[in-house]
Amino acid sequence: MGERIDIDMRSLPKVELHRHLEGAIRPATILDLFRTNRGEYLGTQLPEILPRIQITGSERSLADFLAKFEFFMPCIRTASDISRITAEAIEDCVSDGIVYAELRFSPAFIRRLTGLSYSEAVEAVLEGARGAGPAIPVNFTLIVPQPEGERVAWDTVRLAADYLSNGVTGVDIADDTRALGLEEYVRPMAWARANGLGVTVHAGEAEGPLSVRVAVEQLGATRIGHGVRSIEDDRVIEMLVDRGTLLEICPTSNVHTQAAPSIREHPLPRLIERGVPVCLNTDDPGISDITLTGEYELVHETFGLSRADLALMNVRAARCAFAGDEQRAALMERLGDLAS
Ligand SMILES: [Zn+2]
Repeated sequence: MGERIDIDMRSLPKVELHRHLEGAIRPATILDLFRTNRGEYLGTQLPEILPRIQITGSERSLADFLAKFEFFMPCIRTASDISRITAEAIEDCVSDGIVYAELRFSPAFIRRLTGLSYSEAVEAVLEGARGAGPAIPVNFTLIVPQPEGERVAWDTVRLAADYLSNGVTGVDIADDTRALGLEEYVRPMAWARANGLGVTVHAGEAEGPLSVRVAVEQLGATRIGHGVRSIEDDRVIEMLVDRGTLLEICPTSNVHTQAAPSIREHPLPRLIERGVPVCLNTDDPGISDITLTGEYELVHETFGLSRADLALMNVRAARCAFAGDEQRAALMERLGDLAS
């Protein structure tokens, strides 16, 4: 670290493992869906509605961040909305220089929003992926909303297993951490692993390092969404290094949700120095108004990460991707000249 060099981050082949479909909707699409589905905001211009969708800098809490979702989620009504959002999210990945992407969403959440069944929700997403323009390999991760409990978790992991050969390759636990601890999900996550699904878990973000330990040791997560608060516990850091558990770091999102007080104080360089595997991700690019290219530029400018550091992040992401052997081999080859 410390070296500053001129790297074209957009053309750098990047791997995105942590992007929520619901957080990746284009603001212009949100406005369009409000108009066509609900007859609302007909005379409103996009800049007027943007502060309700995107982070403006005046937010003071995680609740302010989540209020953005609560505002715009009702614009989604139909399966074709879900397909459109998926296709556009993939197109945005392609134009961002992403060469492999994993997108995640909650079928339980889509069902509540649209009335679609669990499998109709997944079909709508897969339909959107088929309709996307120039293709990159994309896999999907199904999210168990943490407050929902074990029954929804079983529904979600079984659903994921049903679509394992059709592009669903992993499961995740996300959302509000206050009602239920991760310990509630030991059995469905063990079943998911035994049935060939990858397991990643949001932990060490709102909750402390113990949540990371539970996710890894009890739920068998091989990747952690965020995990930035691991830095608070040396033994958790050692566990991540020993096991090679990948932290899916989302720098701007961590600042927006106040998991890190500022980008300068973000633990990314300390995690790298300690040997913890990390990769860079966007989390919710539509709300945070960011791109993955921009996140690479941000950490390069803030921390002076070298070209080797950045290349290693993508190689580690590829190694830990929930991809089949052939997909992973092709991806490693694509990253090859940077990995060497
Ligand atoms: Zn996330």
